[in-house]
Amino acid sequence: MPDAMHDRLKALSETARTEIAAAQTAQQLEALKGRFLGKKGELSAVLGSMGKLPPEERKAIGEVANTVKGELEALLEQAQKRLEDAALDEELKGPKLDVTLPGRAVAFGRRHPVSQTLEDIVRVFSRLGFEVYSGPEIELDWYNFEALNVPADHPARDMQDTFYVDAHWLPKGVGPVVLRTHTSPVQIRTMLAHKPPVRGVMPGRVYRKDSDQTHTPMFHQVEGLLVDETVTFAELKGTLAAFARAFFGASTKTRFRPSFFPFTEPSAEVDVSCVFCGGKGCRVCKHTGWLEVLGSGMVHPNVFKHAGYDASKVTGFAFGMGVERLAMLRYGIDDLRTMFENDARFLAQF
Ligand SMILES: [Zn+2]
Repeated sequence: MPDAMHDRLKALSETARTEIAAAQTAQQLEALKGRFLGKKGELSAVLGSMGKLPPEERKAIGEVANTVKGELEALLEQAQKRLEDAALDEELKGPKLDVTLPGRAVAFGRRHPVSQTLEDIVRVFSRLGFEVYSGPEIELDWYNFEALNVPADHPARDMQDTFYVDAHWLPKGVGPVVLRTHTSPVQIRTMLAHKPPVRGVMPGRVYRKDSDQTHTPMFHQVEGLLVDETVTFAELKGTLAAFARAFFGASTKTRFRPSFFPFTEPSAEVDVSCVFCGGKGCRVCKHTGWLEVLGSGMVHPNVFKHAGYDASKVTGFAFGMGVERLAMLRYGIDDLRTMFENDARFLAQF
């Protein structure tokens, strides 16, 4: 009986040695450890049958079993070391990483051409002493139209041209509410909040129900307002001519044409000499040599009245320009919609 147990232990030990020596992975070693030395492993099975032996023999077999256990533990440890060394050698043998490959450049983002243009416009007027004012894009009809002397039957107030906002939750008589169709309501808000003199630009997003090659439902404007006791049309001309030279180039000429806006009187369209042909005439300027870039005029007395200013004591000028139009002229873009398609190939050019 004891001899049979000895043989079993010996066989177990030999099998274990062979298999441990052959193990190629840490997982295989872990499995062998469980198979031979685990609680339900082969060594435990041998020891479990020892109960039938007389006590003195049990002790002798127990000692042999402990020796086998110690040996196998040492072998497992060595085998683990062997595998770790092999892995390290493999790693040191040569890099899987080819450091001679060219690096991958980080793709930097850049400011949208509309943002660049808007910031450049504001920067020019900042240098001329204008402050920046902003207001809400969801606006009361009163600020967007009424206060700006736009009468109820004006086509701009047509449902076809303006986005009206459902605002039934507002107190009765406060609405209607629109997405502002221009940045002009900010002029009213600025005058209501500040006593004259006021000298500011109002950049921001505006909305109209328009969509074609030169119109998008959302676009950007920069408006300007200067109010003081003796502001004249000459100052309006001087300011806008200075802007045109700063923005389009020192040789840029300006031309003022009579026009009509409800909120200014007199009103003028402002043209600049064509930036593409220098005024000689080309396709972009339709061979006139001039490009229409902004609207302007002297603030209408009714607007002052709505803004709480005394029209007999102050005068002022106002102007407004479309940022996308200036960006298109500056960068030679012929379809406005490409600005808002978020195509990185297009945007990366600017
Ligand atoms: Zn031209």
